[in-house]
Amino acid sequence: MKYKKLLVFLLVVLLIPINVSAKTLGDLKNEYNALEQAYKDKQAEIDNNQNEQRNTNARIDEIYGEIAQTEKEIEDLNKKIMELKLEIEEKDDQIKSVMKYYQVSNGESELLEYLFSAKSITDFIYRATVTEQMSRYNTNLIEEMHRLIEESKKAINDLHSKEESLKSLQDELRSKLYMLQMEAVNLSEEEDSIEKDIEASKSIIQFYIDSGCSEDDDIATCANEQLPYGTRFWRPLQSGYMTSTWYSDYLYDYGGECRSHAGVDIGAPTGTPVYSISDGKVVFAEYGYNGGYGNKIVVQHYINGQNYTSLYGHLSGINVSVGDIVTKDSVIGWVGNTGNSYGSHLHLNLCVGLNSCISRWQTTDPGAYINFPPNHTSYYDRTSYYAGYYSNPCGW
Ligand SMILES: [Zn+2]
Repeated sequence: MKYKKLLVFLLVVLLIPINVSAKTLGDLKNEYNALEQAYKDKQAEIDNNQNEQRNTNARIDEIYGEIAQTEKEIEDLNKKIMELKLEIEEKDDQIKSVMKYYQVSNGESELLEYLFSAKSITDFIYRATVTEQMSRYNTNLIEEMHRLIEESKKAINDLHSKEESLKSLQDELRSKLYMLQMEAVNLSEEEDSIEKDIEASKSIIQFYIDSGCSEDDDIATCANEQLPYGTRFWRPLQSGYMTSTWYSDYLYDYGGECRSHAGVDIGAPTGTPVYSISDGKVVFAEYGYNGGYGNKIVVQHYINGQNYTSLYGHLSGINVSVGDIVTKDSVIGWVGNTGNSYGSHLHLNLCVGLNSCISRWQTTDPGAYINFPPNHTSYYDRTSYYAGYYSNPCGW
């Protein structure tokens, strides 16, 4: 007894959160709004990324200019050093020639001779002073120039390290730019995927609205009687012969003009099983002439968020009833030759949306959704790939 009470308690406890977390159409709309916001945010991120890329590129270009400027300064300083060296040589020569001028005769006495051949004491002092000052002046000048050369060399070193750091900054900016470009690729992929999510979200919401769900209905139950969710289409017969495709030369009585066919015709022996082209719900299944289609089945599908309708005509037998949920493996009927038909074959129409799918103005080319082989060729399974379906003998 005790355990039973506990079990009931546990069941109640476990059931409550499930009811609380039930998803409604309103929730779906909120999710849709969140996706729209995420899309806007993503676009803002993309804008930021593009701005940063632009700025980084501009800075890289700027640094090219700064490097060129630095190299120019180094070149100028090297030129200056060359000039200073030339000047030093000149001054050296000047000192030497001054000394030579004063040392016209032999030995160490030349300077003394020059000094002592002074005509007066004043002349003597003058000669001594001039000699001394000239040589000191040139020596100072040469020292000053050596100092300038050392300064220039130091400046060149500084400029070289400045150039190095500019180049490494540029390298850093280039790798930053590379990262930004990688990020941009990811961002645009994320943007695409959000866009797809938005599209899917839209059609799912539309599906529940079309199913009569209202804002606060639990979507798990309000669309219970609706279509199962599929992902793709398959060929309706295991094997067959393409008697005519959408683009076949289909001659109508009036004028015999070349017109597109409403669907495709697949030749196969009477009694061949006909499968639904995908998961769906049977909305029509009747024996009779049915406007030329003969014994006819219509199935509605919900594939990747989009509604479709498929129609199967000229059947010899019907294996389903209205309201049946079918899969791509359900045998819904058998190939026959009923209605306006001249030989055993399946006529297949495909329509985008939920409709009767009987008129040429509703139908779409099944070959755009199901990979059929070219006209007048056979196939032997429901999936293998064929190229060349779109041969158009009408020459459009
Ligand atoms: Zn046909």
